[in-house]
Amino acid sequence: MSEQNRQGKLVVISGFSGVGKGTVVKELLKQYDHYALSVSMTTRAPREGEQHGISYYFVTKEEFEKAIGEGGFYEYANYQGRYYGTPRAFVDASRERGMDVILEIEVQGAMQIKEKFPDTLLIFIATKDAAEMERRLTGRGTESFDQITGRLKAAVGEAEQMQHYDYVVINDDLQECVEQMNGIILTEPEGPRYDPAFKEQFVKGLEEIVAKRTVQ
Ligand code: 5GP
Repeated sequence: MSEQNRQGKLVVISGFSGVGKGTVVKELLKQYDHYALSVSMTTRAPREGEQHGISYYFVTKEEFEKAIGEGGFYEYANYQGRYYGTPRAFVDASRERGMDVILEIEVQGAMQIKEKFPDTLLIFIATKDAAEMERRLTGRGTESFDQITGRLKAAVGEAEQMQHYDYVVINDDLQECVEQMNGIILTEPEGPRYDPAFKEQFVKGLEEIVAKRTVQ
């Protein structure tokens, strides 16, 4: 619950593709009333069921570049050949109202935010291992074989950035993950937060899977 006059926290949530970040974030918003979700702008095409202004603001490359020129973004990144960026205005207004603002963004953007706003809380969501990540990406059926391979390759680099996050959370059971995330955001508990062995194991798994997919 937000106290009066308290400025809301800025919370960055990143994670591997297919990890269920979107679902976790949706549940946080549904189950608790102190969150606001920043809607990003992107030049990628909408997926089935996605709505302009709700999932993303879907714009052309020219429109995106115009917004960059006007200083309209807190951060932006090029991910898999498409632009993604966080519009400033909504974040500022929501934090002023005491809402904790969630940015669901990839790692390059997260690092820009961390540099500009060191108080930001950064949470990385992972699957329990690389094989589970591949299963989920394949299961959602929204990307081609090559796109999935691209996302698995990108995840190797993303895993290297995990160490810069304040917390790494595994999304195995959805409700447990949601409650754990809310607890972290509210209390920011002390304790070990990043496990290098987990990262190494994950990267090894990714590399094996990518190698298998590229010889096929
Ligand atoms: P997708 O195409 O699957 O919706 O998103 C691809 C990646 O872009 C995800 O990791 C997502 O978190 C990230 N993303 C979404 N919006 C933004 C944004 O505004 N800025 C940055 N840097 N990444 C974003």
